[in-house]
Amino acid sequence: MEEVNRYKQQLEEAKKLSDTVLKYSKAVREKSTTKQVLLLRQYGSAKKLQKACYECCSKLNRIKQSINESNSKLEQFMISKEMQCSKCWGLGTEQKALYVRDRGSPEQRIIQAIDCPACKGKGKISYQINEESEALIRQLIEFCKSLDFILDTSIVCMRNLIKALGGDDE
Ligand SMILES: [Zn+2]
Repeated sequence: MEEVNRYKQQLEEAKKLSDTVLKYSKAVREKSTTKQVLLLRQYGSAKKLQKACYECCSKLNRIKQSINESNSKLEQFMISKEMQCSKCWGLGTEQKALYVRDRGSPEQRIIQAIDCPACKGKGKISYQINEESEALIRQLIEFCKSLDFILDTSIVCMRNLIKALGGDDE
């Protein structure tokens, strides 16, 4: 949920930036210095507004990456009906501290690897899901694919805005 809020925040930022750049470009065309100054007030300069656009572009790219990673996990899950155990990160083991004391010597702390209690050492957890859940997950996978397309489009728009501000694409 925290992740979703961050995505939302970054997309809102992208929208705000696009609005500002479009208004700024219009003000440049109209040769209205007052409007330009007002629009740039929050960013400092056209160069800094451009920098904010570059940063926004990389944030959108990261969101795209992370959504695609989650989606491949979901697609994988639909095939195997197994998920990586979140407790041991798929390792199947966990570290446990044991305290042992030999006669006469001070207590010693030993780290021992034991089977992860959540997945019982398998590193994966199997799930049984019904048809309704399966249909929902498939819908979610398709939704994520459209989201990927929307993000692609936003990234292209953002790059065009950077060009409009006189910067090069790369
Ligand atoms: Zn585990």
